Amino acid sequence: MSSIETFADRLGSYLEPEQINLVRRAYYYAEQAHDGQTRRSGEPYVTHPLAVAHILADMHMDHQSLMAAMLHDVIEDTGIPKDALTQQFGETVADLVDGVSKLTQMNFETKAEAQAENFQKMALAMARDIRVILVKLADRLHNMRTLGALQPAKRRRIAKETLEIYAPIAQRLGIHSLSTEFEDLGFRAMYPMRSQLIERAVRNARGNRKELLNKILESLQSLLEREGLPGKVMGREKHLYGIYQKMRGKRKAFNEIMDVYAFRIIVDKADTCYRTLGAVHSLYKPFPGRFKDYIAIPKANGYQSLHTTLFGMHGVPIEIQIRTEEMEELANNGIAAHWLYKSKDEVLNGNHARTRQWLKGVLELQQRAGNSLEFIENVKIDLFPDEVYIFTPKGRIMELPKGSTPVDFAYAVHTDIGNSCIACRVNRRLAPLSEPLQSGQTVEIITAPGARPNPAWLSFVITGKARGNIRHFLKHQRHSESIALGERLLDKVLASFDTCLADIPEPHVQQVLNDCGLELMEDLLADIGLGNRMAYVVARRLLERDSVETETAKPEVAEPNSREKPLAIRGTEGLVISFARCCNPIPGDPIVGYLSSGKGMVIHQENCKNLADSRHNTEKTLHLTWDKDVSGEFTVELKVELEHQRGIIAQLATSITVADASIDKISVDERDGRVSVVQLVVRVRDRLHLSQLIKRIRALNGVMRITRLKN
Ligand code: MN
Repeated sequence: MSSIETFADRLGSYLEPEQINLVRRAYYYAEQAHDGQTRRSGEPYVTHPLAVAHILADMHMDHQSLMAAMLHDVIEDTGIPKDALTQQFGETVADLVDGVSKLTQMNFETKAEAQAENFQKMALAMARDIRVILVKLADRLHNMRTLGALQPAKRRRIAKETLEIYAPIAQRLGIHSLSTEFEDLGFRAMYPMRSQLIERAVRNARGNRKELLNKILESLQSLLEREGLPGKVMGREKHLYGIYQKMRGKRKAFNEIMDVYAFRIIVDKADTCYRTLGAVHSLYKPFPGRFKDYIAIPKANGYQSLHTTLFGMHGVPIEIQIRTEEMEELANNGIAAHWLYKSKDEVLNGNHARTRQWLKGVLELQQRAGNSLEFIENVKIDLFPDEVYIFTPKGRIMELPKGSTPVDFAYAVHTDIGNSCIACRVNRRLAPLSEPLQSGQTVEIITAPGARPNPAWLSFVITGKARGNIRHFLKHQRHSESIALGERLLDKVLASFDTCLADIPEPHVQQVLNDCGLELMEDLLADIGLGNRMAYVVARRLLERDSVETETAKPEVAEPNSREKPLAIRGTEGLVISFARCCNPIPGDPIVGYLSSGKGMVIHQENCKNLADSRHNTEKTLHLTWDKDVSGEFTVELKVELEHQRGIIAQLATSITVADASIDKISVDERDGRVSVVQLVVRVRDRLHLSQLIKRIRALNGVMRITRLKN
């Protein structure tokens, strides 16, 4: 029988004939695609994918995984495009193959060791379907088993990568059988001498231990029989790499490690686990503080078992693990146990729910969601609960805390990117800068020269880097903007006395600074700009000094002339100027400025009711005009009363957009069945623009009245 037929025979134990046929077809496709290629060992290439499929069949993986295993090197090694596989075998299988190819292309070995942890996470994040990882692990396992055919340097590189990346991934997914095999094969290839030494030492020790080991085993076995507890006792040996790591990490001598006698007791159900625990505790005294109940509280990867350590004869420590058959399966196969169980579901009944709590939860999610992306997302949430993994457009991965937004991402990439970001694309679509990111998304930040951080970002960023940089930038910006405003305010007052700052002698300026307890003129100007000092008062003091020291005949300061021109607002003053929310002034409206201590200047409409109280405070209120080159978008609130009819709100929104204004907010109140009141917050350039907009809205069929809201 040909080797594919032997394999097909095996599959008969758990797959349907049609499914086996599909696997067979994938095999023949691969055989043809790899025709003429050979493995380093000289065998035809197709023996490798077949062996990978065998490994997956050991785990009872489904037919699609097996097909992907057959085809896993086709895209990478034969240049057949993914589309061709989609046509032949459908999207799911093609996606699996594509995923495996992408994992293969990831260049682990060039990265620093310190980053290994990141790469494990990256590998997981990259796989949209957990089966991609399982196929990849099986692929790596077969390559590790056949490592001997390679050059020593390449062998070491692959072994290192296996120890750093693949063994921990298998561990994370709870596939113990894979992770120990990875570790032992990797250890042998990486450190041939050390592994031989330990292997020999283990063989010797085994001889010495045999007698005692058997004694304990027999006493445990007869205990179970006596107590009527159905269970199987077996001796357990640590694997080579585990011993090596213990010697290195915990600095233990080989003898200390080997002096521990370890057993596992497999029983029928969870309840028996606890009764067995009671029985062994009565046989030997337990070590205090060493008992762990992973049945009640499973490990994150779903592992369940009872662990205890006992004082055996002559005081030798005995480690015992007690678990059910199912828990044992799960401990060995982890996430892959799902496929194993699926096949014998009717045999198992009763307590799986508890045994497979974690896995079941996530796997059910996969079935329900029918969306592998959501599934892997949930697996990842369980594996790494507090992080999200985001890709740059070039495929670099960034690790961010959960809840991070595109702005956090931009700052994580580079401070300059953060400072100049204006928009972003998430998975190629424009998205809000405030939207929390999900693992696996590709984020592209759009920047513009001269763009600046927005103070509103502080309300949603969550990383310290973003927050710190935004604050830092704003503080700087605010300082320079308040200096600029302060200078304009002071200049204006000085101009009304027919002088200017440059005309005031330096020593006088210094004297005023000293009086104010300041060092630099800039600080004084910033104080004026922020509203902490009145420009008028500062100007008078500068002029007083001037009068005294020049001993002019008139010690009094002259009254300001009446040609005083109001300060002109350009719209580009930045953070030291804000527009009052109560009256929303726009260019064209008569305006006044109110200097609010520490906050800079707030601009109101001249007749704003909120200013009624402070208007007499002439030092704090300033007459303003709009600069003729004023620029920017200004907010106004409109109230539109309209007769309700289908599609009217859409028409309204369209006409606003057509008028080149933007909508910030739209809310609809139904007054009665017929009339609706729409509140709009829109942004316009000036009064002219606003009147054009109002005209357009008024022209809509059904619009009864439109008013601009103030206070
Ligand atoms: Mn391969």
